[in-house]
Amino acid sequence: MSDTWNTRTKLVHEGSRRSQYGEMAEAIFLTQGFVYPTAEAAEARFVQAGPDEFIYARYGNPTTRMFEERIAALEGTEDAFATASGMAAVSGALTAMLRAGDHVVSARALFGSCLYVLEEVLTRFGVRVTFVDGTDLDQWRAAVVPGTKAVFFESMSNPTLELVDIRAVSEIAHAAGALVVVDNVFATPIFSRAVDQGADVIVYSATKHIDGQGRALGGVVCGTEAFVRKVLEPYMKHTGGSMSPFTSWIMLNGMATLDLRCRAMAESALKIAKALKGHEKLASVIYPGLDSHPQHALAMAQMGSGGTLVAFDVAAGKEAAFRFLNALEIAKISNNLGDAKTIVTHPATTTHQRLPQDQKDALGITPGLIRLSVGLEDAGDLIGDLMRGLEQA
Ligand SMILES: *Cc1c(COP(=O)(O)O)cnc(C)c1O
Repeated sequence: MSDTWNTRTKLVHEGSRRSQYGEMAEAIFLTQGFVYPTAEAAEARFVQAGPDEFIYARYGNPTTRMFEERIAALEGTEDAFATASGMAAVSGALTAMLRAGDHVVSARALFGSCLYVLEEVLTRFGVRVTFVDGTDLDQWRAAVVPGTKAVFFESMSNPTLELVDIRAVSEIAHAAGALVVVDNVFATPIFSRAVDQGADVIVYSATKHIDGQGRALGGVVCGTEAFVRKVLEPYMKHTGGSMSPFTSWIMLNGMATLDLRCRAMAESALKIAKALKGHEKLASVIYPGLDSHPQHALAMAQMGSGGTLVAFDVAAGKEAAFRFLNALEIAKISNNLGDAKTIVTHPATTTHQRLPQDQKDALGITPGLIRLSVGLEDAGDLIGDLMRGLEQA
């Protein structure tokens, strides 16, 4: 709405649309279709719908449009398209832009479902995929060739919090004419500067920090208006992965507090990482916000923060890690992240269970590794909980 607005103002007001009733809160337009005043109006709308004209909720909906405009303004992209889940966003963005024979280069350290889309789905339709170590720029340089259509990576990887240098990889990709598609979930939309650093298309699982309260699945793809409306929207609206208006309303409400939540979580994450560092029961503590993290400088340049997740390795292995998890009273054992409630995950036996051992080794998923998604509880209480758990490890 206003180019001069700062983040928190945009998160509360951007994209708001009010009906003739002037409602304060964003309305949920829980309707699948729209009524046209005349047959001529229906015809005209199917030729070209105006900005406040809708046809069918799979194509667009006023509540969903509010969410799309709000997240696009936050991300700094011209437009956005909201999807039914984060995976609908990832698979939609890639499938909409690729065709048989195209070449994609992807980082290997990916969320399991992202890996499935690249390794199993795209290849089945004749897309060639080359996997690289996302942190190794030489591997990107070698794999991206003239004619490569797109590169894909998670800007911060799950669960070992390795960063991919968005600026450097974008330079390599753009020199070859490839589009840069970034899954930015771990960076959060608050610590994202992905567009400034060269990303063309940014995808989020809104299930994570954007909702942030564990209520709904959702996703969003941010990019240029030309990409979102001419490439992505036709694909999404005809294949069915659109966000429901009710979910859009939940996400709009989540966004009002997104900045406050992400900053509070990141502040606690740093305190927790410092408290855990050097603990006798831990072989390592991984947090990009710590000076000792090998990519600390890149994290600060790319995100201005270490983010909201911490990983650590319980030295004595799986049984000790399980004793630790089972002793916690505040942190919950689960596999979501970005939630108001602190969540602990044992990747080796849950989110990354299916990976063969050599891939677990390559990704640093050790038997003692714990991923901690820091929530909104008091940081001191959380540190107390984790220390109590570690006594049992
Ligand atoms: C959770 C997640 C997804 C998938 O999102 P859903 O909303 O669960 O479909 C994709 N990428 C990353 C990095 C994630 O953490």
